[in-house]
Amino acid sequence: LFVDREIAAGRAVELGADAARYLISVLRLSQGDDVLIFDDCTGEWKATIAEAGKRAVVLVPEETTRPREVPADIELAAAPIKRQRFEWMAEKACELGAARFTPVVTQRTDVRGVKADRLRMHMIEAAEQCERTALPALGEELKLGAFLDEFPAGRALIFCDEEGGAPVAGALPPAPATILIGPEGGFTPEERERIAGHAGAVRVSLGPRILRADTAAVAALSLWQALCGD
Ligand code: SAM
Repeated sequence: LFVDREIAAGRAVELGADAARYLISVLRLSQGDDVLIFDDCTGEWKATIAEAGKRAVVLVPEETTRPREVPADIELAAAPIKRQRFEWMAEKACELGAARFTPVVTQRTDVRGVKADRLRMHMIEAAEQCERTALPALGEELKLGAFLDEFPAGRALIFCDEEGGAPVAGALPPAPATILIGPEGGFTPEERERIAGHAGAVRVSLGPRILRADTAAVAALSLWQALCGD
């Protein structure tokens, strides 16, 4: 379970109704039972349920069980798509070990107002499910121009382009790297030219079919983890 503050031995943590329902009704735990919690800072801890109510639970952390992981520096940068699919993408990015998820607004992005708190909630749930001890950072939403202008020197930009590019197998660069996925309508020709010409850009193809943006994100991250990950 994720705890949104730094955990310390013996310092009680109170969690609200959602956590109470999950621990008491779903997992059937009760006072005196142990649970694992993490805080994206100190790592994972074993904690004992000191009070178990319907609206809240109190946990007392006892000892660390795993240090906070240091994920490979792979970022997923993607143009916002319909809310549920974008949240699904964020969830999968977390499961697939992304260190950062950044929304990038392009000319053909027709979805406005990405809800950062909902993306974060989905990534927290995914981290709990896959037992990560570090949450992916949520990058500030940027327009493509600013994203490219601010792109750090020395970082590889993996430009996933449905119109061509090198087969991923021999082309994927190691960390630090950012995978860039376009919107439902794809990048415009000018955007494509600008991205491909950017320092550090590696244009890759994920195969001859046009994948949905969420499928492309998952395919690219999975391939990167398999070929270049830890
Ligand atoms: N209209 C579909 C949708 O609703 O999601 C397809 C969108 S596709 C144009 C979105 C992005 O996925 C592209 O900009 C590209 O980054 C990536 N993509 C899709 N198929 C790809 C492929 N075969 N190779 C590389 N990238 C791909």
